[in-house]
Amino acid sequence: MTSLSPDQIIRQEILALSAYHVPPAKDMIKLDAMENPYQLPSFLGEEITRITAGAHINRYPDPHAAALKETLRTSLSIPDGMEIMLGNGSDEIIQIIMLAAAKPGAKLLTVEPGFAMFKMIATFTNMEYVGIPLRPDFSLDLDMMLTAISHHQPAILFLAYPNNPSGNLFDEAALNKIIQISKGLVVIDEAYHPFAGKSFIEKLPNYPNLLVMRTLSKLGLAGLRLGFLVGRPSWLYHLEKLRLPYNVNVITQLMAEKIMQHYDTLQHQADIIKQTRTKLRIFLESLKGVEAYPSDANFILFRLNNASHVFKQLQQRRILVKNLDNSHPLLKNCLRVTVGTPEENDYFCNTLQDLIAEN
Ligand SMILES: *Cc1c(COP(=O)(O)O)cnc(C)c1O
Repeated sequence: MTSLSPDQIIRQEILALSAYHVPPAKDMIKLDAMENPYQLPSFLGEEITRITAGAHINRYPDPHAAALKETLRTSLSIPDGMEIMLGNGSDEIIQIIMLAAAKPGAKLLTVEPGFAMFKMIATFTNMEYVGIPLRPDFSLDLDMMLTAISHHQPAILFLAYPNNPSGNLFDEAALNKIIQISKGLVVIDEAYHPFAGKSFIEKLPNYPNLLVMRTLSKLGLAGLRLGFLVGRPSWLYHLEKLRLPYNVNVITQLMAEKIMQHYDTLQHQADIIKQTRTKLRIFLESLKGVEAYPSDANFILFRLNNASHVFKQLQQRRILVKNLDNSHPLLKNCLRVTVGTPEENDYFCNTLQDLIAEN
């Protein structure tokens, strides 16, 4: 018997996908992935070293991560009556939610341009994807959204708040309206909350169809992989069944618990990033032919002539940003830069200024 080949076994939608591309970053100034550029203060680094040295990595982790959840609950003021579900990054939580809802023909609705993983994971899980365009200034087109919601009746609606890759917070009243008229589940993805200051977490008690997702990745702990979902027990009870029991490892649980007891330290770093964001945007706006969009996140989207060419030239000078040119019609000639340290930002700004002068 000859066996079947991969393309006879693997689903057509998966064969058609291209894998999520992460460019090599060795020796690069990495301003492409919204990482926090700062290390933990040394007192915390030492405490963590001590804790992990004694960790029982011969044992499976606590499947409920009870201690960590308790720390999150107090440090992030989770409303009473709401549960927390932990994920190996919030990407895993997106996948759990979609897996749970992926009945044949069930739809996932989101905005475009938006977070790329929403569409990718819709494909993984066999959900029907619906992407509704934002306005050219990346604000939400409420009328178009309301029409699309009543027409498609999505099982799930995902919105990043602030949005990635545009960096803006959507209008709060518009989001309230969307949650109210949606019959399906609405998930607000607050990955950039530390830089925005606004949240839907305190509105959870008002809406039975709302869940709020957060992550520690953009806060300085991208390497730990910890995301979490907050919402009513009636939702999380079922989602928990799809969470693999040991998805958050021993080291992540111990480290995150300790670090979150010093949440003010991380928030302080985020505040510094917010201040440098303002400087970076003012500089970008001052460059001839550059349009920089307002940001409530730790990155800035900007538009300039010959973006793809400038992107390559930046790369040759060891600066890695994200090239969004050709990723969506509204992002023609757009690049996205993560706010780095003042030194990294200066090097980026000076290099960009030279390149624009040369081109
Ligand atoms: C970065 C990002 C995430 C992913 O976070 P992880 O917790 O690292 O998986 C989720 N949502 C948005 C909008 C992001 O930009």
